[in-house]
Amino acid sequence: GGGDAEAGQDAVETARRHLVQPWPMAGSVGAEARALIGEGDGIYITDGNGKRLIDGPAGMWCINVGHRREELAKVMYDQAMQLSYNTPWYTMNAPSAELARRIADHAPGDLSHVFYTTGGSSAVETALRFMQFYNNVRGRPEKKLILSRGGAYHGSTYLAASLNGRPRDRDWMDGADDLVVKLSSPDPFRRPKGMDVAAFADMLVAEFRDRIAEIGAERIGAFVGEPVQASGGVILPPDGYLKRIRAICRDNDILFISDEVVTAFGRLGHVFASGEVFGIDPDMITFAKGVTSGYFPLGGVVISERLLEELRRSNHPDAMFAHGLTYTSHPVGCAVALKNLDILEDEVLAHARAVAPYFQARLKTLEELPLVGEVRGLGLMACVECVADRESKNPLQLDRAVGVRIDAHCHELGLLVRPLINMCVMSPPLTISREQIDDMVAILREGISRTM
Ligand code: PLP
Repeated sequence: GGGDAEAGQDAVETARRHLVQPWPMAGSVGAEARALIGEGDGIYITDGNGKRLIDGPAGMWCINVGHRREELAKVMYDQAMQLSYNTPWYTMNAPSAELARRIADHAPGDLSHVFYTTGGSSAVETALRFMQFYNNVRGRPEKKLILSRGGAYHGSTYLAASLNGRPRDRDWMDGADDLVVKLSSPDPFRRPKGMDVAAFADMLVAEFRDRIAEIGAERIGAFVGEPVQASGGVILPPDGYLKRIRAICRDNDILFISDEVVTAFGRLGHVFASGEVFGIDPDMITFAKGVTSGYFPLGGVVISERLLEELRRSNHPDAMFAHGLTYTSHPVGCAVALKNLDILEDEVLAHARAVAPYFQARLKTLEELPLVGEVRGLGLMACVECVADRESKNPLQLDRAVGVRIDAHCHELGLLVRPLINMCVMSPPLTISREQIDDMVAILREGISRTM
C-alpha cells in the first residue's frame, strides 16, 4: 500500500546517507524504492513499491530452496536457543561435525575434511592459505604462485579478489598481482574466429602447459577455477577441458582447487558438480551460498584426505594451520545447513534435475531476438548474452548499460534480472516450476524486445 511505499522511500533515503554500496559512486542505479527488497516468498520477492517479482538471480545464486522456508527459520531459532556460539579454538559443536560428515559423503574422491568460513571469499582465501601452509610444511616455500583465468570471479577479500578476471573487477581496484598468473578464459563463445571448439580446448590446454613450463612447476602451488564460470557469464568450458587441466595439475604437483561457491548444493542438480557433472576429483572444493540457501552466511573448503595425511606424516606433524575466523564452524549456520541439505536431498535436487532441460530449452528460444548473441547454460543457471552484431560478437559496440535497461523493463513486468553489462544471468530458486519458467522467459523476451 501507500504506507509501504513511503516507508520504502524513507529506507532508500537513509541508505543513501549512510550505506556504502557496491555501486557506481555517482550512479543512481539501485537508489530507488524498487531496489529495496522487503519480502521473499518461494521464488518471489517484493520491492519497496509493493511489486512482486520473480527472483531471477535467486538473491545472488544462493536462495536455492526458495524464500520463506519455515523449517529453516525454525531450525535457526532452535539452535540459537540451544547454543548460539562457541569458539572454534579448541572447542567444537555437534552440528558442524555432522554437516562435515554429510558434505564428505557427497564430495568426490577422497575429500574428507571441512574447514568452515563465513562465505565464498573467505573459503577461497582459506583454500589458498591452506596451499601455502601445505607447501611450507612440506619444505617447498617457493611453490606458492596461483593460476587463475580470465572471466573468473572468486571473491572480494584481497587474495581471492586478486584472482578475478572480469575486466570491471580490476578497473579501480588493486590486487596481489605478484602472486597470481592469469590464463585465458575458457569461453567457447569468444574463441578465435574460424577455430572449432575442440581446437580451442587444445589451445587452452597448451597455454596451461606452456605457462607452467615457462614459470616452473616448482613455483606454482595451485590452480583455482570455477567448473562453470558463473559471474563471468555462465561460461561452460569445452568438453574434456577440466579433466585435462586436472591431470596436468596432478602431474606437476599443483593443487587443483574447484570453486563451487555457485555450482554446489543443487545449481547443477547435485550437491557437488566437480565429480558428478564433470568427472574430476579436485584437491579442494570451496563452497558457500547454497549450503544454507542464503539463510545464514556460511562457506567452507572440503580438503583431500591425501593432503592431510601428508601433513600428519611430515617432519612437522605439530605444524599448526593458524587460520581461524571467529565464526568458523558456527553452530547456527551449520544447523541450518543440515536442514537445507535434508530439503535438497528429499525434494529439490530431483526437481532441479527434472526441470533443467525445460529451463534451458525455453531460454534458448530467446536466440530468435536480434539483440541476443547466445543463450548458454547448464542445470538451473543460464546467461543471455547480448551483442551489437552477431558476426563480430562485439559487446563493446553496445552501450554498457544494455543489461541495466533490460533489467528496468523486466522489473516493470515482474522479473528481477541481475545484469552484467551486456549479459542477463538467470539462476532462479531451484524450486521453480515449469509454469514459472514460462512466466520468467516471457517477461525476459518482452524486456529484451523493448530494449532493442
Ligand atoms: N566464488 C565464486 C565462484 C562466487 O561466485 C563468489 C560470489 O559470488 C565467491 C567466490 C565469493 O563468495 P562470497 O560473496 O560469499 O564471499
